[in-house]
Amino acid sequence: MPNLDLRTILVTYICGNLVCGIVLTYLWWQNRRHYHGLEFWALSFLSNFVGIGLLSGRGVIPDFFSMLLGGFFLIAGTYLLYKGLAVFLFGINRTPLHIYALMVLYLFLQFFFIYVSPNFGIRNILFSTMLVFFSAQLGWLLYFQADSATRKITGFVCSVTTIFGVLAIIRIILNLLIYPGANPQQSASYEAYLYLAFQLMYVVLTISLFMLVNRRLMIDLEADIIKREETETELDLSRDKFAKAFQASPTAILITRISDGMIIDVNDGFTKIMGFSRDEVLNKTTKEINVWVNPDDRNKLVQEMREKSHVKNFHFDFRVRSGSIIHGEMSSEYIRLGDEDCMLSAVQDITERKRMEDILHLRLKLWEYSLTHSALEVMQMALDEIETLTGSQISFYHLVDEDTNSLSLQAWSKKTLTDYCRAEGTGMHYSIDQAGVWVDCIRERKIIIHNDYTALPDKHGLPEGHAQVIRELLVPIFQQEQIVSILGVGNKPTDYDQRDADMVEYIASLVWSIVAKKRADEQIQQLNEKLAALALVDELTQLPNRRAFFLRGAEEISRSKRYGLPLSMLMLDIDRFKTINDTYGHARGDMALQCIARVLRDQVREVDLPGRLGGEEFGILLPNTRLEEALVIAERIRKSIEALQCKQDTEVCITMTASLGVADYNRDMQGLDDLFNRADTAMYKAKNNGRNRVEIFKED
Ligand code: GH3
Ligand code: MG
Ligand code: MG
Repeated sequence: MPNLDLRTILVTYICGNLVCGIVLTYLWWQNRRHYHGLEFWALSFLSNFVGIGLLSGRGVIPDFFSMLLGGFFLIAGTYLLYKGLAVFLFGINRTPLHIYALMVLYLFLQFFFIYVSPNFGIRNILFSTMLVFFSAQLGWLLYFQADSATRKITGFVCSVTTIFGVLAIIRIILNLLIYPGANPQQSASYEAYLYLAFQLMYVVLTISLFMLVNRRLMIDLEADIIKREETETELDLSRDKFAKAFQASPTAILITRISDGMIIDVNDGFTKIMGFSRDEVLNKTTKEINVWVNPDDRNKLVQEMREKSHVKNFHFDFRVRSGSIIHGEMSSEYIRLGDEDCMLSAVQDITERKRMEDILHLRLKLWEYSLTHSALEVMQMALDEIETLTGSQISFYHLVDEDTNSLSLQAWSKKTLTDYCRAEGTGMHYSIDQAGVWVDCIRERKIIIHNDYTALPDKHGLPEGHAQVIRELLVPIFQQEQIVSILGVGNKPTDYDQRDADMVEYIASLVWSIVAKKRADEQIQQLNEKLAALALVDELTQLPNRRAFFLRGAEEISRSKRYGLPLSMLMLDIDRFKTINDTYGHARGDMALQCIARVLRDQVREVDLPGRLGGEEFGILLPNTRLEEALVIAERIRKSIEALQCKQDTEVCITMTASLGVADYNRDMQGLDDLFNRADTAMYKAKNNGRNRVEIFKED
């Protein structure tokens, strides 16, 4: 074995360590942001560098520095390598206590074999033993502490540190077998070879550490790529899900720019509800496509949006592509797209819901209205409301009598009358056969919609002054399979559809039930009035009967009392009427009573009140008439009866006379009974004084 120059080896050893230290420092610098622990490796090699440097200075520098400190730096270098790997691989910062303890023990023994019992060989063995220990400690860390994935990248370093341990064991054995010399400079030749081997291993260790970092970088990069790919897939998936949800939602969803309402995106729900295609609305403002029925609504929306960043359940009217109006419930959220303030809005078509609410509301309103208004007024109001609900311009209500095959116009809406129709004709009756195409609803017995009236071939043409018809919806109302009425609306700006028909039908039948009830009520009232009137009229003479006479009489008494006006009364009894009955029969007696009644009616003023008080007795109240004037009237009546020729056709003429009593009212009397009694008394006086005469009541 050739003798190697130990000094040269030591110098190259030092230089090699320095170079390795620099390389690892570079490695640390490059990766300091990603990984920790690399700084300990750099420090480890620098520590080795210092340690070998100090050892080589043996003899030149004091033993304390060269041997004790040099040995310490070398062991510290090994420790730093261990610590660097523990931090780099597992993030373990704490060093097990036994390592510190061993290092202290090492320093103590080193001190002992330098100063107390100097022995180069034992020191070599001591140092190598420490190397074996660290090699084992590293083996445990790199192999047993690591999981299988980490083990894949730590294998190389682990092998290198194991070789270090093996070399250290060889050194111990050689030191035990062959005398190593007194000091490093005079070491046995195998020491030089061992130094060379260690030097080589340090280079390999540097390479292995470099590769360790590289492998880890690769693995982390791969993991990063996989993670990014996963995230991207997830993102794609969620984007896809959102896009699907956005598109598939039955609610109209749109994204608009807040500043001007420019439409950035819309979903299928929007195109379905609003009737526009995507291309028709994208990059246009909502105002340009004219969806706002009240353009001010957008300003309200934007203002609320700017204040609260969201809008909840706003109700707006929107115009869809066909021109018809829908009622929408809108909620919006602020979103930022790129560098623009936008909003994501969802619009639900609640036209139907609103319609139902309106109908229910109208139902209540109509019933309430019908309590204080006539059937005609109810019809008119229903027409006004139904026009608003359907967006119609004209409307009418006809009653139908299928038995007589006739129609009668009941009502036009207010708007129809004021704005469109000059031919009012309310109450006009005409035959169903003469009516125009609109009575198709009677002929076909179903709801009729004419959305293009002018194109109808069989139309009659409208009468002079009639509202122009563009389109119409006619709803017949059935009652026990008979059509009883027709409610018609016309001239909605867009076509009538089934929904309009359903609504008009509902309201029309509601109106019919109200009107029918109203008409029945009105009929009952008329009957009642008739009955009441009948109860006050004498059937034979058609003069007020006794009851009516006394009712009116009481009123006249209180009027006279209140205003201090004079009031007189005549009592009249036909003379020997029994004889008339006996002579001509009862029926002609009745006729004679009718003749008398006629005379009374002819002889008194409008304000006077003649009445049949019973049998052939009559009373006449003369308001605002003094006794003397009453006397004149009584005389005039007496004379008229005397001159009366009562007969029918060729029958024999009946002549009669009557006796009359006159009395007047004064404040001392109790009431009408007093006045009546006085007139009656006067009348009996006339009878007693020879009949066919007039007597005035006198107190005596
Ligand atoms: P006088 O008054 O002059 O004393 O004699 P009088 O014959 O008229 O007697 P009184 O007034 O007592 O008789 C009334 C008669 O009038 C009795 C009744 O037969 C008759 N009379 C009463 N009501 C009717 C009626 O509705 N129709 C007819 N035909 N006769 C009636
Ligand atoms: Mg009488
Ligand atoms: Mg009489």
